[in-house]
Amino acid sequence: MLRTTLLALALGTTALPAFADEINIYSHRQPELIQPLIDAFTAETGITVNVAFVDKGMAERLVAEGDRSPADLVLTVDIARLMQVVEAGVTQPVQSDVLEANIPETLRDPGDQWFGLTTRARIVYASIDRVQPGEITTYEDLADPKWAGRICTRSGLNDYNIALLSAVIAHHGEEAAKTWVEGLKANLARKPDGGDRDQVQAIAAGECDIAIGNTYYIGQMLADPEQKAAAEAVRIDFPVFEGDGVHLNISGIAMTKSAPNHDAALKFMEWLSGDAAQQVYAETNNEYPVKPGVARSALVAGWGEFTPDSIGLTEIASHRAAALRIMEEVNFDG
Ligand code: FE
Repeated sequence: MLRTTLLALALGTTALPAFADEINIYSHRQPELIQPLIDAFTAETGITVNVAFVDKGMAERLVAEGDRSPADLVLTVDIARLMQVVEAGVTQPVQSDVLEANIPETLRDPGDQWFGLTTRARIVYASIDRVQPGEITTYEDLADPKWAGRICTRSGLNDYNIALLSAVIAHHGEEAAKTWVEGLKANLARKPDGGDRDQVQAIAAGECDIAIGNTYYIGQMLADPEQKAAAEAVRIDFPVFEGDGVHLNISGIAMTKSAPNHDAALKFMEWLSGDAAQQVYAETNNEYPVKPGVARSALVAGWGEFTPDSIGLTEIASHRAAALRIMEEVNFDG
């Protein structure tokens, strides 16, 4: 306790404690999503896991803290965010036979700096009453004038939408992507607002007929008595890129360069990729587990099979700057 206090004083911040049987995580993910995993890990290993929720500026914070950072691990969503911390030079490569065995090659960094832990599909929520199955089958279709005044989405500058536009760029080039996003904007029923769940509410309220969103939010809403009715008003449709597949994003993890508790942190990384944790991700969060052979939740399985898009995650991340620029050029949120 004394050491903790001194460390916090020395850093002049609310530093997390750093003992041998503890690890410290900077997490971008909502705390309630990872708590069940942390509780199970601690019960199994006796290692305490401290989590600091870092909403913005993860890479900047780690750079500023440098070698004194108490953080061992970074947990985040979106490939571009993972690559931002890697490119900031604040992570270290992790060689692990367990991680290699559990995580498919396409879902981890060839340089071992980041590792995907779950995938989620960015798909279409469609009004069960007003949209027939098969009416929307491609992402390209979202720009078709037949949807004029019928689409809702969160901000174009949100990571998930930037990643989706990055995938459009990867498929069709920047110019066509700009035309696409202009068409999408022209089809919006209202200015981008709120999160993915708010778009489901908007469909239920009759404000729009389809929305762009991530799969697992429907699971969260169905489990919430106050949001269940709205979630039941929509169906999940899996659009594809013409001739290819469904856009996925990932949640993932990286070890910091300074990791004061390297061995315990590695243990947690490996544990998160294993059967027990992957089952929690599947059942509690309704995400797609990365470990082959781990079953999807019954709810997620009921949404059906799909072909993931073939464009690699690192290629998608490479178009992030262009996607941001295009969103600003078309004033998507305006
Ligand atoms: Fe999310």
